[in-house]
Amino acid sequence: MTKQGHDTPSTDNGPSNFIRDIIDKDFASGKHDSVVTRFPPEPNGYLHIGHAKSICLNFGLARDYKGRCHLRFDDTNPAKEETEYVDSIRNDVRWLGFDWGENMFFASDYFAKLHDYAVQLIKMGKAYVDSLSPEEIREYRGTLTSPGKNSPYRDRSIEENLTLFEGMKKGEFDEGTHILRAKIDMASPNVIMRDPALYRIKKVHHHRTGDDWCIYPMYDFAHCLSDGIEGVTHSICTLEFENNRELYDWVLDTLGISPRPHQYEMARLNLSHTIVSKRKLLRLVQEKKVTGWDDPRMPTLSGIRRRGYPPEAIRMFCDRIGVARSDNWVEFGQLEACVRECLNASSPRVMGVVNPVKVVITNYPEDQTEEFTFPYSPEDDSMGSRQVPFSREFYIEREDFMENPPKKFFRLGIGREVRLRYAYYVTCTDVVKDDNGEIMEIHCTYDPETRGGWSKDGRKVKGTLHWVSAKHALDVEVRLYDHLFATDKPEAVEEGGDFFDNLNPESLKVITAKVEPSLADAEPGMRVQFERIGYFCVDSKDSLPGKPIFNRTATLKDSWAKLQKKTEN
Ligand code: ATP
Ligand code: MG
Repeated sequence: MTKQGHDTPSTDNGPSNFIRDIIDKDFASGKHDSVVTRFPPEPNGYLHIGHAKSICLNFGLARDYKGRCHLRFDDTNPAKEETEYVDSIRNDVRWLGFDWGENMFFASDYFAKLHDYAVQLIKMGKAYVDSLSPEEIREYRGTLTSPGKNSPYRDRSIEENLTLFEGMKKGEFDEGTHILRAKIDMASPNVIMRDPALYRIKKVHHHRTGDDWCIYPMYDFAHCLSDGIEGVTHSICTLEFENNRELYDWVLDTLGISPRPHQYEMARLNLSHTIVSKRKLLRLVQEKKVTGWDDPRMPTLSGIRRRGYPPEAIRMFCDRIGVARSDNWVEFGQLEACVRECLNASSPRVMGVVNPVKVVITNYPEDQTEEFTFPYSPEDDSMGSRQVPFSREFYIEREDFMENPPKKFFRLGIGREVRLRYAYYVTCTDVVKDDNGEIMEIHCTYDPETRGGWSKDGRKVKGTLHWVSAKHALDVEVRLYDHLFATDKPEAVEEGGDFFDNLNPESLKVITAKVEPSLADAEPGMRVQFERIGYFCVDSKDSLPGKPIFNRTATLKDSWAKLQKKTEN
């Protein structure tokens, strides 16, 4: 650990980025001696992979600088918020591997304080009650190129403002009749600074404060003050809020909040072939394009968890994409590469045949069954092993057989010899077909001298196939998932189009696979690699005892990258 300046915590743990540089400077200059960050979700939907970037960054900074990160629910907009979302968000942050300790807060906890700050601004002559209609307010605001003009109510006396604001709070007025605005500058080149709204009337039940309030603070007022109340030092948001920073600073400086937090903006995560907007994800759920927020095709944390993505893969991904100041797109393949990297090392290898065709060994005794010991990992002995039964009839993948294979096809063909993983060498003699010419059965002979899958005479074979004994096979439902959207930027639609048009019609294929019997008691959530096929996870919702359902987490290789190469050439 290298020490920088005075007693500065090390940043060796995380990849460097511009926010870490700022923190390092703040430590070096003595501006701060600890880091307090926050992750501030609005509980109006489930968290998605974009949020993971923010979680990993904020909690990661707190971890590496030995500070703290608050989980704060930004619940200032009562109409859209639900307790279900609060619970799911807590669950998802924990699953990602982060802990807020005692620091879980709700912006609604501060409603009384925020109200007092608003009163303070009125008393300072820095806020007023406006009674223009919403349409008039829009008209008076001006445009990006022309200044706004002052509301006729702007110069109300402090007394009158206090009385009206009190009346708003007591529920004496209808929604939309009055709002509280900051008195800043209607000619500001930054439109956000043109007397922004601070409080509006909303006669709506709140998930935590019930019917206590009928005025609710606006995001720009509540957020900076919540940061201030909690002693946040570095308040990180996405680039869309760059123009709001001036207001963030104005509110805190005008009210003399000290020490005062600072806002920093970073690029949001945009991921190809999917969508990271709660509003749009909600539409997918409501219009039943997916089975729910946790549909394994969804980019939500609950969806990718159910799909089988391990949390360490998400953290690895967030570290790798880094934190930058300008917006960019990240290929979904990058996320999958992290998933494969984690699963390759950690998931036991088992045998499952997803597109089965039957093989019969004509010289193998009819009633005989043998058991072979299969290690769960070729490299890691600590993963243990299990017994796998072998018999005269078994299944292999249809793709692993060709009647008249070309030279470079190293799998099974008539007259060809291959290895059955850990079992025997077999040679194909002939096939049985149905009336349509489809292969029903492949006939082979086996060499009893090759038990265990190797030949004493040093005879080499090029292909090794996975297999599942027919009479021991377990029939299981397998859900083959693919990208939810067929285009890389699904939100890019033509005039009058809808992003639904870009949904991938092939995003889910349900098949029945033959898998080895050891998987009968595979626990929900268990992740395995079907040898040579891909990574799968036992579905945590629909599986029944003894009847696991397998979700395909990822293929072994990035077939989309290959496809793209092909179309480019
Ligand atoms: P959405 O557009 O999906 O509703 P949001 O920004 O409104 O997202 P919030 O609940 O307000 O959702 O977000 C909580 C935190 O997560 C914020 O600090 C926000 O900046 C961050 N965040 C949200 N989406 C992304 C993203 N795609 N990339 C990085 N950070 C994100
Ligand atoms: Mg938001």
